[in-house]
Amino acid sequence: MKVTYLDNNATTRVDPQVLEAMLPYFSEYYGNPSSMHAFGGGVAANIQHAREQVARLIGALPDEIIFTSCGTESDGTAIRAAIESYPAKRHIVTSRVEHPAVKNLFETLAKKGYRTTLVPVDREGRLDLDYLYDHLTDDTAVVSLMWANNETGVIFPIEEISSKVRERGIVFHTDAVQTAGKIPIDVGRTGVDMLSLSGHKIHAPKGIGVLYLRKGTRFAPFMIGGHQEKGRRGGTENTAAIIGLGKAAELAKQHLDEGSYRCVDELRDYLECEILKQVPSTMVNGDRANRLPNTTSLAFEYVEGESILLMLNEYGICASSGSACTSGSLEPSHVLRAMGVPFTAAHGSIRFSLSRYTTRSDIDLVLEKLPPIIARLREMSPFWKDAKLAAAS
Ligand code: PLP
Repeated sequence: MKVTYLDNNATTRVDPQVLEAMLPYFSEYYGNPSSMHAFGGGVAANIQHAREQVARLIGALPDEIIFTSCGTESDGTAIRAAIESYPAKRHIVTSRVEHPAVKNLFETLAKKGYRTTLVPVDREGRLDLDYLYDHLTDDTAVVSLMWANNETGVIFPIEEISSKVRERGIVFHTDAVQTAGKIPIDVGRTGVDMLSLSGHKIHAPKGIGVLYLRKGTRFAPFMIGGHQEKGRRGGTENTAAIIGLGKAAELAKQHLDEGSYRCVDELRDYLECEILKQVPSTMVNGDRANRLPNTTSLAFEYVEGESILLMLNEYGICASSGSACTSGSLEPSHVLRAMGVPFTAAHGSIRFSLSRYTTRSDIDLVLEKLPPIIARLREMSPFWKDAKLAAAS
């Protein structure tokens, strides 16, 4: 059966050009970039080229790019580096809607005695900025906020936040794992101290990430070992993946510059509008005016998200009922709960996330299959019957 892949916030397909760039690094150019001989040295030069490609995607200097193993490592390294660099400060700030990479680290740090502030969001998933600014103190070591949410796509005003946080002398980190390649990033203009990226969200392979570290920012490595990455991240480089990420960053920049990524939001809007038109008691989770172009989180009231996913799966359609890390549990996601999405809607929420490979016929297949699935599930739902009776009385 053909796979219709609409789960690109979970992971993306490796671009064929990325794969092609990577392949020689497994069995042809397999030298260790730290070796003295030219065979390894050549690889080091190519890693440097990949560093420049990644730097160009986000407007950074090549030396500000540190390769890591994934977005989770980048997030953890950034937050731990900030608190280690300012050991006297014991307060850390994040939001209520972060990815587990940040959320669970904050919970661990809270158990170790750090005072944590979790900034709330409103019903649209927008950050409460007054709450954030009111809670910054001289004791705050770091503020870590995602640039865009993986479940709803809602974008936080990182540029404004960054300048307010940094003017208080507080380190500012942003998790841009879902942002890169979808909207332009310019670290020069945004002024963040640290920023995380992940290869597998931008058509590079899994197992490669980036931490952007602004020149002059205090830092303590998480992975202590050899002198790789200028002593900022020990461990022999994952050469093929780094080369792949460099190529993926180049392609992502090209698509953004040429405006070709724009058709992704046209397809997303087409999907969303048609579903809202055809399926009653459906709503969009999150601020529609300020979202990633590829993401829609749709809440179908009075049905189970997991049942929808299983039925879509029968037609080869891949979506998600929240982030991949939370699917499998029947608890509504912490993101939708933080937004105050009613229980009956949060339970029936499905995320579709598109990519530059998504076609109109992919969306048409969803539009053909999804409305009858929802109608069938609602026929079986006692809550739906009760809701209809209540509306009629
Ligand atoms: N941050 C966000 C917002 C994410 O969506 C993800 C992955 O889904 C991560 C961090 C973790 O990235 P990785 O899978 O590379 O560890």
